Amino acid sequence: MNIPVARDKFRRFLTQKGLRVTNQRLAIFDAALAQTEHFTAERLLDFARAIDDSVSRATVYRTLPIMVESALLREVDIGTGEKYYHPNEEGSTTQVAQVVCLDCDKIFEISAPFMGWYGNTVSSKLGLTPVSQRLQVSARCDTLRLTGSCPRRN
Ligand SMILES: [Zn+2]
Repeated sequence: MNIPVARDKFRRFLTQKGLRVTNQRLAIFDAALAQTEHFTAERLLDFARAIDDSVSRATVYRTLPIMVESALLREVDIGTGEKYYHPNEEGSTTQVAQVVCLDCDKIFEISAPFMGWYGNTVSSKLGLTPVSQRLQVSARCDTLRLTGSCPRRN
């Protein structure tokens, strides 16, 4: 994702919502968009504080839903009660499958173009147009089972 373009989009979104563009919000935004792995709100707080140590936990929790609403971030629920977030690549939302490693708490996103085909096929038979869809696979770690440890494990 192009960070300056995304930051402009975020600024405009905040303004449209009548919210102030603050250094704290921009630090949270920069921290979130720099991530290549899925992250939780608490991890984002650490990353954002590394940029601006005045960022508060409350601001992170208030800013996350705004970023999801602006479609710059995607929320991923893997059923553990804690939500994960990932920067949203433009237009990829319906063609990404998630594989969740239950052993190492790692979320992989796999490009799955067949999902677009599948969603269109099953919907059009019903006279419907798909808006979103999800595929999530829960899995166990082969490396951990075979060797007793896994580098992906925290
Ligand atoms: Zn593993």
